[in-house]
Amino acid sequence: MNNSCFLPDEHATLAFGTCLAHALQEGGIILLRGDLGAGKTTLSRGLLRALGHKGAVKSPTYTLVEPYEIGARKIFHYDLYRLNDPMELEYLGLRDFIDSQTLTLIEWPEKGGTLLPQADLDLALVVEGPSRRINWQAHTEYGQQLAAALAEFSGE
Ligand code: ADP
Ligand code: MG
Repeated sequence: MNNSCFLPDEHATLAFGTCLAHALQEGGIILLRGDLGAGKTTLSRGLLRALGHKGAVKSPTYTLVEPYEIGARKIFHYDLYRLNDPMELEYLGLRDFIDSQTLTLIEWPEKGGTLLPQADLDLALVVEGPSRRINWQAHTEYGQQLAAALAEFSGE
């Protein structure tokens, strides 16, 4: 199954987030890897808007986490870039917020070390000239369902 997609411009990254939003059935844990400016927050913005969020989607760079509530769904959008020590995750309550109805998006999961819970889906954005490429990998059965929907989207 295809697990890579070329994203020519910002619009394509937003559309990829929209596709992922439509594939979600419940909550889940999704990791977003990639350098600064790779498009992790852009993808999250596309996803949150497709789930029905009307306002701005701020980067959680300084707050470490931005919470959202859309209908019955709770979403926690993390950016762990400024995390000094994985132990700080305990204060953020990351594990306490995780249940099957909650969607957890985590930028810079590397900074969370081994304290991060098992993710359903791992996304990695790579800069390719003026554009981007995204690669993904599923870690759970639910993640495989999401990956299958993304493979259909990419159509490569
Ligand atoms: P990150 O959260 O990974 O640090 P951001 O999403 O905040 O990155 O910023 C990514 C930047 O790259 C934004 O300026 C955005 O417009 C741009 N961008 C996003 N996706 C693409 C793409 N597929 N091709 C070119 N530029 C993109
Ligand atoms: Mg970001």
